[in-house]
Amino acid sequence: MKPIYMDHAATTAVSEGALQEMLPYFSEEYGNPSAVYSYGQTGKNIVEKCRERVAKCIGAFKTEIYFTSCGTESDNWAIRSACRLRKDKGKHIISSEIEHNAVRRTLEQLEEDGYEVTYLKPNKDGQISVEQLEEAIREDTILITIMLANNVVGTVLNIKELAAAARKRRILFHTDAVQAVGHIPVNVHQLGVDLLSISGHKFNGPKGSGVLYCRIPLRLPAYLTGGGQEKEGRSGTENVPGIVGLTHALEENTKNLEENAKYLNEQADRMTKSILELPGVTQTGDKDSRLPGFCSFVVDGIQHSVLLVNEMNSRGVCISSGSACSASSQEASHVLLALGYDKQLAGCSVRVTLGMDNSPEDVDYATQMLKVSIEKIRSEQVSRAPRLEGRVTDIASENK
Ligand code: PLP
Repeated sequence: MKPIYMDHAATTAVSEGALQEMLPYFSEEYGNPSAVYSYGQTGKNIVEKCRERVAKCIGAFKTEIYFTSCGTESDNWAIRSACRLRKDKGKHIISSEIEHNAVRRTLEQLEEDGYEVTYLKPNKDGQISVEQLEEAIREDTILITIMLANNVVGTVLNIKELAAAARKRRILFHTDAVQAVGHIPVNVHQLGVDLLSISGHKFNGPKGSGVLYCRIPLRLPAYLTGGGQEKEGRSGTENVPGIVGLTHALEENTKNLEENAKYLNEQADRMTKSILELPGVTQTGDKDSRLPGFCSFVVDGIQHSVLLVNEMNSRGVCISSGSACSASSQEASHVLLALGYDKQLAGCSVRVTLGMDNSPEDVDYATQMLKVSIEKIRSEQVSRAPRLEGRVTDIASENK
């Protein structure tokens, strides 16, 4: 039996429509868009058409869309180039404690280069207040980067209000919208952000495709230098099939946002309600402002979520312990720690992210299996308690 895939926040399958539109650009219309002959011009034309189509989906102008290779690249480009652009104004950046590693690691590297970063602590739901942000702003603040939706607990943050506070002080605002675009309505001008990152494979587009939105008239310094593609900003021959696939998938998802969200939320609510019947299970993230189909919990009495993920895998259901990048890590999630959970609970976070390919029967089966798995692991741990106790103490003392 094919496993049931319930880790759509990690990645998604390329949609049939996106695949069909991509196919000719691999082996028939394969010209380099920079070339002047007809093959090249076909490539150039489709890339420009896609720029327009993507812009329409997020309420942007065509000239504000830059194609990249992934969400990580978009985050890196936005943050590093914003710093270069504002280098005469200061070296202070504001972010949050719950960002994806694509932002965290970039900021850490900038700190090594002499930048100072203030990481705002969210409340238990994963929200950051305007007052907190305003308090952190300094004369030398050049950039604020706070995500639109969190990849571990599914909270959708109040970016519109936060970006408005930044704009009042003329500070650049970037948001990592990798988990949000294609799943909730995103209109860049309504949000009021200067920079926004998108990744194609999170909404049924292909891996290796991304977008950076950059508000005009802002012009970011080049991130990749070379042949001058993407208006000199991001050199490198365009990934034409990837751009086509991302565009098709984004259009498809944008058209069906409301209908998809209704279905996914119904399924997620049923699963969440049932899982919360178990003692010692707590829902994480914001209950009222969350991504559609996003179920996230911390489970007490289990040593690490990897045990649960493995147990579910053996029962034919693919779920996650948090972000895909740290799925195999035994460390507690930095997001859960930031939300105030203790080390034990933060180490046992579970993320089930549903997609339109999950039937109600799949959801019911997975819910049942999750409950059985939690109870099984808990009872095994109790029967092995003396050995585990020793290990827990060892781990605890190592971490001091
Ligand atoms: N930002 C967030 C919030 C993510 O969830 C991810 C991927 O999981 C990324 C950035 C990185 O995107 P990509 O895999 O396209 O590099």
